[in-house]
Amino acid sequence: MDVERQRIEEDLRGQLAGEVRCDDLFVQLYSSDASIYEIAPLGVVRPRNVEDVVATVRYAAANNITLHPRGSGSGLAGESLGRGLVIDFSRYMRRIIEISECTARVQAGVVLDQLNAKLACQGRVFGPDPAMSHVTTMGSVVAIDAAGSHWPVYGSARKHIRAMEVVLASGEVVQLSVHDMQQDDAPQNGVSRNEGAPDDQAMVLAPILRGLNTVLQHYANEIHTCQPRSLVNRSGYRLDDVCDGNQLHLARLLTGSEGTLGLITEVTVATSPLPQHVGSTLLFFESLDKAAQAAIVLGTLGVSACDMMDRRHLSLARESNPRYELLIPQATEAVLLVEHQADSIDHLLDRLATTVEEIQNKRKLASGAYIASDRYDHDMLWQLARHYVPTLYRLKGYTRPIPIVEDIALPPTELPEFLHRMQQTLKQEQVTASLFGHASHGQLHIRPFLDLGNQDDVQKMATLADRLYADVWDLGGTISGEHGDGLSRTSYVEAQYGPLAPAFGEIKEIFDPELILNPGKIVAESDGCVTDNLRQVTYPLLKILDLTDSRTSPADDLPSTRVDLQLDWQPEEMVQAARACNGCAACRTQSEETRMCPIFRYAPREEASPRAKANLARGVLTGTLPPGTVLEDACKEIVDLCVHCHMCRLECPANVDIPKLMVEAKATYVATNGERLHDWLFARIDMLCRFGSRFSRLANWAVRNRAARWLMEKSLGIAQGRKLPRFSRRPFLQQAAERRLNRLERGLTDKVLYFVDTYANYCDTQLAQALVAVLKHNGIKVYVPDSQKQAAMPLISQGVLEPARHTAEQNVALLAEAVRQGYTIVCTEPAAALALTHEYPMLLPGDHDALLVSENTLEACHYLWRCHQRGKLRLDFSPLSVSLGYHTPCHTKALEVGTPAENLLRLVPGIQVEKLEKGCSGMAGMYGMQRKNYRNSLRAGLPLLTAVRTGGFQLGATECSTCKIQMEQGTSKPTIHPIKLVALAYGLMPEMRGLLNSPNEELVVT
Ligand SMILES: Cc1cc2nc3c(=O)[nH]c(=O)nc-3n(C[C@H](O)[C@H](O)[C@H](O)COP(=O)(O)OP(=O)(O)OC[C@H]3O[C@@H](n4cnc5c(N)ncnc54)[C@H](O)[C@@H]3O)c2cc1C
Ligand code: SF4
Ligand code: SF4
Repeated sequence: MDVERQRIEEDLRGQLAGEVRCDDLFVQLYSSDASIYEIAPLGVVRPRNVEDVVATVRYAAANNITLHPRGSGSGLAGESLGRGLVIDFSRYMRRIIEISECTARVQAGVVLDQLNAKLACQGRVFGPDPAMSHVTTMGSVVAIDAAGSHWPVYGSARKHIRAMEVVLASGEVVQLSVHDMQQDDAPQNGVSRNEGAPDDQAMVLAPILRGLNTVLQHYANEIHTCQPRSLVNRSGYRLDDVCDGNQLHLARLLTGSEGTLGLITEVTVATSPLPQHVGSTLLFFESLDKAAQAAIVLGTLGVSACDMMDRRHLSLARESNPRYELLIPQATEAVLLVEHQADSIDHLLDRLATTVEEIQNKRKLASGAYIASDRYDHDMLWQLARHYVPTLYRLKGYTRPIPIVEDIALPPTELPEFLHRMQQTLKQEQVTASLFGHASHGQLHIRPFLDLGNQDDVQKMATLADRLYADVWDLGGTISGEHGDGLSRTSYVEAQYGPLAPAFGEIKEIFDPELILNPGKIVAESDGCVTDNLRQVTYPLLKILDLTDSRTSPADDLPSTRVDLQLDWQPEEMVQAARACNGCAACRTQSEETRMCPIFRYAPREEASPRAKANLARGVLTGTLPPGTVLEDACKEIVDLCVHCHMCRLECPANVDIPKLMVEAKATYVATNGERLHDWLFARIDMLCRFGSRFSRLANWAVRNRAARWLMEKSLGIAQGRKLPRFSRRPFLQQAAERRLNRLERGLTDKVLYFVDTYANYCDTQLAQALVAVLKHNGIKVYVPDSQKQAAMPLISQGVLEPARHTAEQNVALLAEAVRQGYTIVCTEPAAALALTHEYPMLLPGDHDALLVSENTLEACHYLWRCHQRGKLRLDFSPLSVSLGYHTPCHTKALEVGTPAENLLRLVPGIQVEKLEKGCSGMAGMYGMQRKNYRNSLRAGLPLLTAVRTGGFQLGATECSTCKIQMEQGTSKPTIHPIKLVALAYGLMPEMRGLLNSPNEELVVT
């Protein structure tokens, strides 16, 4: 940390209840957002309350430091980036203060979807719906004046703003709403928070109101003549709808001001009733022009949304989901997804039918249409719009769909002409682009595919902006319809507004004479250019790393802090991994519909997000951070916030392989600094369990005994309150050898090699017996080689790669041979299946046997479900009269095989399955076992734990051993592996019937 930053951190730390971080790591995490820009701030403040914000503003003003408010950092125009202090409202200021009949009052950091979840209980909604509503914060929604697909019904945030609490550049706190411009220093509606008396607020606001009055009068003519004709506009300060006679809607003036006029700490917004009936139709078009013509008509039909998607989106959707392949005809060049809302279902169906009739039959514009028949269908259609825009980033190569001219809006009638001109421009510049838009209100999100690392492409960015914006202005449009000016458009604001533009500078001067509030946005600082401050995409570190053999020792001439990679990376792959993250912030979601990221979820802070990990990796590879950063404890703390659940790899729209990057980072640290004692033990849980099994009497007594558990916590770091499994006296591998299951069988029948792994071997040998019994019942030969090792997932997830690699080599040699002899490898532990299928090829690159093993390994329920699909699974089940709550483990999800365990359970007559969609269990392998993570693990798994505890079902069911442990924590309901239930239903192991009713004990799982 440099001296200035250190001083700021020390100065502010004593003044704030919240946090201040000015170290290199945090600076790196807050240097970028979802835009193409990167600017290192001096540091980050995370205020806990308005007093923290005031203290920060006063300090910044006194020290001439600029301030850059930030929510989730999902802005596409770089509007929250800057060189001063970033103020992150999303960490602590997340309180929903009050919900009344028609309004909601919330702190700036409240996430929009979380507000809407609360409002939904009262049949209300905050209408404007930016696509990232699951992460975007209310402070930003207002600061950006966000809007989305449903603009036709709800408009943008400015339509709903009622009042806001703002910290001005002077450090004063004011309540803004509608104010009388003529009043001089008289009390206003609202009171000053700090000083408590209305008069104080009036005194603070009086000069501001006077100044604004003068500006508004002076530019009255331009305010009306210099506006674009588009239905939406988010460029510049919006002055055309803030005055009503003497009344000035100050809260509305600050809506869309991008943090340049004041720091919003609270907002009061109007809410709307939830629509009663919603339905949609997908219209297919053979040309973009016809779709644009149709959009003009649709704008007059009272649609609630009308999104346009081009061929590129549709191809992606078709490729990844067979339903879309069946639905969208090959010849389709564009679609319009049209939504209607209505008071009755008949009315709704009528509207949808009229729409199709008008566009397809009467006007002959659409070549076909599909009307969603139910809610599921409707959601499936909306997935097209919500999901496939971000997935454009999955396309391989160095070009990316760049957000640079991504927010153009036009009068809807000009859409066809603009699209024609746009295609000409793109053709002349030899650039391809993707197109998505809210067509009925003229909003277009155009993303040219360009390479930020290619100077010609960088030049093209500026050229495209110049040329397309010239057409936009010619046709009466705006450069920004909903995303704001930020860094990408501020330099065009003057050209857009002409004689009105100086008014913006004067307004900025009134609110912020010292220019400390987010300067350079809306009002340009100097002759900035759209291509200034672009993200770094050159990777000097790759040049000094010998990627052909990553495990060689460093050459003498390289710096001592040089890092040796521990995994084998292809140079292409590493560049791809480093560049793939576009910063979209989708991984900051806490939505129950998604899984990522369990650690971010329970305590949302930037450093816990997958994006932070990607930014760290990018920082090191680009040289912004020194290579030795990964060897430092501070970095390790952030890296350890990844528990290797793989959910972000699966759900990240750009497919960034964060788990692999984090294994690399952990491994590099371990290779240099070694392991800490407790980490060492947890990485070798297999050894600990072997010991427990050998001394099972003593170990099982200790597991149950409070004093022994205290000792175990102190000495081994195993959380004292965590329920633990008992140890089996004889490991299953020993039992299998005694039963002669350790012999290869010849012949062509179905053959399974059972890969047992730690839990079933040492703790739950009954599970292993159940699998063998089920397989044999189905005539499948079972082989359990006794020389198999643990899968080594705990070693891998902690980056202890040498022993992990050694174990993988031993397992691969054994398993590959069996595969060659016709065996399929089957695991009862999803983590083991994931290790064999995904991690071993990563540990042993170029090893064909590792690939062979990977291709022939299945999780046990998946294997049985496949047997069923081939008609080979016996269905002679006796009814099992139980109700259960089934949880899908993250590692099963990561295998990308659906939910075979649930499918299998549903085959058994009498079993009632309730699927628990409550996210990650929070155990994350060994993570939740450790004293230091115990509480966090419970917090992360709270939704699941609550569902198990309060659910009306008798049992929990899951195939993951550590999820089972977590599901039994805090409840007496047992959680059972699906294979055991299948065995019971076959009548194979009647002694297991007791499991159905056996409550787990205080410190021990069933
Ligand atoms: C894939 C994708 C799709 C998107 N789709 C849409 C869309 O449909 N509609 C849309 O409007 N936007 C969209 N966006 C842009 C962005 O998500 C929204 O503008 C969102 O509202 C920004 O919220 P945030 O919390 O991430 O804000 P940030 O990016 O952190 O900040 C946005 C702006 O708000 C300011 N700000 C933040 N908090 C405060 C505060 N407390 N006081 C004062 N100023 C503050 C910041 O300084 C900055 O200028 C999209 C982005 C992505 C990546
Ligand atoms: S890791 Fe993925 S989801 Fe997260 S910000 Fe990067 S691209 Fe978006
Ligand atoms: S692998 Fe899991 S824990 Fe790690 S960053 Fe991704 S979602 Fe978070």
